[in-house]
Amino acid sequence: MDQATNGSTPASAGRAARTVDEIREAIVEKLKYGVGKNAITASAHDWFFATALAVRDEVVDRWIESTTRTYRDDDKRVYYLSLEFLIGRLLFDAMGNLEMTDTVREALAGLGVDLDMLKTVEPDAALGNGGLGRLAACFMESMATLSIAAYGYGIRYDHGLFRQRIKDGWQLEYPEDWLAAGNPWEFPRLEVAYPIGFGGWVEALNERDGTVRHEWRPAETVMAIAYDTPIAGWRGQHVNTLRLWSAKAPDPLRLDAFNRGDHVGAAAARVKAEAISKVLYPSDATPAGQELRLRQEFFFASASLQDLIRRHLNQHPKLETLPDKVAIQLNDTHPAIAVAELMRILVDIHDVEWETAWKMTVGTFSYTNHTLLPEALETWPVPLMERLLPRHMQIIYLINALHLDEMKEKGEVDGALLSALSIIDEAGGRRVRMGHLAYLGSHRVNGVSALHSDLMKVTVFNDLNRVYPGRIVNKTNGITFRRWLYQSNPGLTRLLTETIGPAFLDDASRLTDLIPHTSDMAFQQQFAAVKRANKERLARVILDRLEIKVDPDALFDVQIKRIHEYKRQLLNILETVAVYDAMRAQPTRDWIPRVKIFAGKAAASYAQAKLIIKLANDVAKVVNSDPTLRGKLKVVFLPNYNVSLAEQIIPAADLSEQISTAGMEASGTGNMKFGLNGALTIGTLDGANVEMKEHVGDDNIFIFGLTTEEVAKHRAFGIDSRETIAKSAILAEVLDAIGSGVFSPGEPDRYKPLVDALTYHDYFMVTADFESYYATQRAVFRKWRDKAAWRQSAALNTANMGWFSSDRTISEYAEDIWNVSVRPPHG
Ligand SMILES: *Cc1c(COP(=O)(O)O)cnc(C)c1O
Repeated sequence: MDQATNGSTPASAGRAARTVDEIREAIVEKLKYGVGKNAITASAHDWFFATALAVRDEVVDRWIESTTRTYRDDDKRVYYLSLEFLIGRLLFDAMGNLEMTDTVREALAGLGVDLDMLKTVEPDAALGNGGLGRLAACFMESMATLSIAAYGYGIRYDHGLFRQRIKDGWQLEYPEDWLAAGNPWEFPRLEVAYPIGFGGWVEALNERDGTVRHEWRPAETVMAIAYDTPIAGWRGQHVNTLRLWSAKAPDPLRLDAFNRGDHVGAAAARVKAEAISKVLYPSDATPAGQELRLRQEFFFASASLQDLIRRHLNQHPKLETLPDKVAIQLNDTHPAIAVAELMRILVDIHDVEWETAWKMTVGTFSYTNHTLLPEALETWPVPLMERLLPRHMQIIYLINALHLDEMKEKGEVDGALLSALSIIDEAGGRRVRMGHLAYLGSHRVNGVSALHSDLMKVTVFNDLNRVYPGRIVNKTNGITFRRWLYQSNPGLTRLLTETIGPAFLDDASRLTDLIPHTSDMAFQQQFAAVKRANKERLARVILDRLEIKVDPDALFDVQIKRIHEYKRQLLNILETVAVYDAMRAQPTRDWIPRVKIFAGKAAASYAQAKLIIKLANDVAKVVNSDPTLRGKLKVVFLPNYNVSLAEQIIPAADLSEQISTAGMEASGTGNMKFGLNGALTIGTLDGANVEMKEHVGDDNIFIFGLTTEEVAKHRAFGIDSRETIAKSAILAEVLDAIGSGVFSPGEPDRYKPLVDALTYHDYFMVTADFESYYATQRAVFRKWRDKAAWRQSAALNTANMGWFSSDRTISEYAEDIWNVSVRPPHG
């Protein structure tokens, strides 16, 4: 089968590319023997499955080569532990990276099947909530692209992020069922199964040499079963594994109970065990929900450690070489319990001396912090931890005691500092601070943008940074250009290749070759034509889904991301209403036709965010049906935001809204996707916006609003904003309209909670930033009128976005944190 060895071009790793006929034959064969259908009876889904299986074969050849090479060269392995992987669809990812999209398209056309139709059949793998999970997916792709021997470890949730429907303007949540029709990309490894314990007690055994040895006797055991998905890097030169764990009860049924007639009770233990991998992010509103979340965290951390230690010992005689051969990256604190679990495995099971074990642990782990929001910093009640993971609680106490003793010996610490440094938070019921545990157990701790990493040093980890200086480093996030440019915007990719040649495809920093062309009129027109075609496509999607007609020549002003007060969709809506008021008052002014596009999900229990969704929809209803506007303002809320919808919207955006309260968005990655696709950003000096401004230049980005320091000063002064509102006639009128029911005539009080929050406790500084935002939006209008200036700025955004490739981010992790070498792709 494999003719890999008879070619010699490095381009396809010595592999002859499959011809159209060969691919067509492979798809037909898969349809017959993999799916069990023929061309007459095949549904769209059958064709998708057959195509995916045919493409997968190509991936698997390279996967096995990669694994063999890693083993042969004894490469250091990187393990990326993440409770979320927001992957999206995989067919175009795999075909694109293996450079076979056109071949497959032609092969299918010969069978009367449209590849773009098949694309829509594949469900999104939505095993994540937002930015953090999408980052993990981009990193998986970049690690493969750079030929790093990396494994992603996570949970194979039966149900990913909920499906959002909008009914009468309100968000409704429905279960998502991505596995319902099967998953062609995964390989179940039913033989790779590890027992995961919970509860029980710890036995202290006196050894003959006088030492005490601890053994954990769990009361309950759940099996972790591996499911592997191959992740191909760009040009298919390396393929890595994403290994997701599924929970299974050791015994399927209690036969005694079943035979007694208790058919439900007989399966109770199984239901409890399998709940662990049932849903992404179970609601933590109840104690049962909180416990399930902790069970998920330990389940996947323990399974992953057992697996990687087994792999290490298969190849190496000694466990002591672990830090030389293994790097484990903790994506946020969700897997932080792994620090205690590795200590348990080393000390209790492998008899490693505590101090040696601790050095090995710190040498192996590193930790990425993703948020400074106090409510998002994970802590677990000590009683819960003690009941569910008694041995780990002991280990955490000991880590803490040794760490605090060391601090005390250094002399300089008083009681207040000691309690700030402690893993145990004593204020209001004892809790375990997972951030502290992750920090102490890691040799490197990183933030995800320059601003965020700096803020970490003076906020959450202020004290730890003082006593362990040099541990905090910055690794500004990035995105994979394969998905967010080549696949999602083939028109722009083609134009770029024609204009500057293909070098940028392998090295994103070469996008700067475009800079001299951005002032060229002919290029500007081609660039604008690509954008225009993308906007026409999105206009059709909007018409199909919402029956709203939008003008592709209007300015597409887009805010798509999770709905959260700190992301300030509300600020955007207030400006929309302000302009609506002005347009009605002065209908004859030459208003710029504009489409405000929103999309995003609110957490099911987040009432204020759900009300913001309703407001966007209510404003849309009023604005879109107002004849005085003559179609010059439209407001659109596209339901069920996910990776696939993002891929459709972002290439069509003119303006990217990145307007979070300064100091609150750790990095953002949506901002980078938009810039890459030639949208101008309107944003605050927050997260990676700061670095985007440095890269694109002040003339090509619209920055407004309070800085982080100014936000802090404002807050110290008080968050009652009655004075601020009184000073702004426009804002006062807008709030009056919303508060008095102009957009909710049937229920005038509907938006009282929003208006009250803005008026009396505006923690997120919406009112303080309103005037600045409104004025900057007018500057956007002025620039939009100057077509050449806008197009040049848009193209300069694309040209200067190369640094935000996740290949750059991953190269930095490889060098500064993991100590592994990278091999860039070559065409
Ligand atoms: C990129 C992305 C995000 C993150 O967007 P931000 O604007 O950085 O919050 C969230 N969800 C999806 C589906 C994405 O593709």
